[in-house]
Amino acid sequence: MTRQKIVAGNWKMNNDLSETEALLGDLKNQVIPENVTVMVAPAFTNLYSAFDSVREDAIEVVAQNMHQASNGAFTGEVSAAMLLSVGVKTVILGHSERRQYFNEGSKILSEKVNAALENNMTVIFCFGEGLEDRKSENHFEIVKQQLAGGLFHISEENWSSIVLAYEPVWAIGTGETASPEQAQEMHGYIRTLISENYNNTIAERVSILYGGSVKPGNAKEIFGKKDVDGGLIGGAALKCEDFMAIVNAFE
Ligand code: PEP
Repeated sequence: MTRQKIVAGNWKMNNDLSETEALLGDLKNQVIPENVTVMVAPAFTNLYSAFDSVREDAIEVVAQNMHQASNGAFTGEVSAAMLLSVGVKTVILGHSERRQYFNEGSKILSEKVNAALENNMTVIFCFGEGLEDRKSENHFEIVKQQLAGGLFHISEENWSSIVLAYEPVWAIGTGETASPEQAQEMHGYIRTLISENYNNTIAERVSILYGGSVKPGNAKEIFGKKDVDGGLIGGAALKCEDFMAIVNAFE
């Protein structure tokens, strides 16, 4: 995958079947700019109907999570093959809520990344520091550890299946946004890390999304930064009007 402009809506544990259909129905009536890849991540129960409803449209349906095993006795879990069987080819891994509430650390995440890549899926790999890390100016070190632990074992070839999402935890769902300068500073650092661990071509090609209270009012400024390729959107993705304003925020 070469560097693309991406806006992905993470609907989290919101929207039942009819609400999902209604929101997708609204989104399908919108004009999606040709230069932007738009993704939405409904709950597992709604993935198939969502995929079915956007087959003909420029909206990709992605999953919020998956299990690392191919199958077996893992009650309540969903595998890569199951996602593929309902048309889902991209999965969000390492979201801070998975890290925080479901104890997903680097070991599990690296296994999940491997399982997704082995199944030729694209991974949106999320990472970002907490408030204490930011206050103690440890944010670069935390991001480095999260990338090294969960992702930097993959081969050069596999980077074409990776999208990164830098999401400072202190800005998720809080209304607090990293300033465009803070986002740019970290995205630039992430490219440097990739360049050091792989090479400059990979660092320049990978799309790096920013996530954390992106809204219609701040998207343009954030997306205007040179190393920010789009956003992973939570709350504002639940309203068609707000989400589309963000999709249309690129210069
Ligand atoms: C998210 O959960 O990925 C996110 C960025 O949420 P919000 O936009 O609501 O901060």
